[in-house]
Amino acid sequence: MIYVIIFGFLGISWFMSWKLKSKFREYSQVPFRGNMTGAQVAEKMLRDSGINDVTIHSVEGELTDHYNPANKTVNLSPDVYSGRSVAAAAVAAHECGHAVQHAKAYQWLGMRSKLVPAVSFASRWVQWVIMGGALLAMAAPTLGLGVIVFGIALFALTTLFAFVTLPVEFDASKRALEWLNSANMTTSQENEMAYDALKWAAMTYVVAALQSLVMLIYYIYVYLLRSRR
Ligand SMILES: [Zn+2]
Repeated sequence: MIYVIIFGFLGISWFMSWKLKSKFREYSQVPFRGNMTGAQVAEKMLRDSGINDVTIHSVEGELTDHYNPANKTVNLSPDVYSGRSVAAAAVAAHECGHAVQHAKAYQWLGMRSKLVPAVSFASRWVQWVIMGGALLAMAAPTLGLGVIVFGIALFALTTLFAFVTLPVEFDASKRALEWLNSANMTTSQENEMAYDALKWAAMTYVVAALQSLVMLIYYIYVYLLRSRR
């Protein structure tokens, strides 16, 4: 049963990333009323929001766009940075949405940032700790199970992080769509398309969070089976 769910989620997350890419490609062909590049859209949204200490950069890759609160940079992929499309405008505005969250001390972004160091440690070591605990359990069961519990706690931290990310992502998209509308960047039809593109981006985060939760339940289930023996 649990394996069916795990494989089901693998299938769904593959479908989501395919869907997101195809939606993005579709809306990359659609011009919008503002007729600016993603970089110009980002600059205007930051200025309109009264933000002057955030810089905009171009980064390699496809859908690699992100806001980095550590050095206050909006990082846009080449297609977004120099693209003049609904998709580019939507993504650029979304990343600026994160910059606005940061400037306004939006609490979920603050919580997410606080979790980053622990989560990067956890995601680097979790597999090794659980595997090491399972091996150790063969020789010293009590100690081994203790190590496994520690590993599961590390994994739970990454699951928590995936869920804290959700309100941050939804809120950034909401801010982006509101600004695109109020700054008269998009027609109502273009705003619908921007909404659709950002919706699929958000869905990949929802699937990732649920997938992480399923794996957490799986680890706890296996642990309970072993510890009963
Ligand atoms: Zn985002």
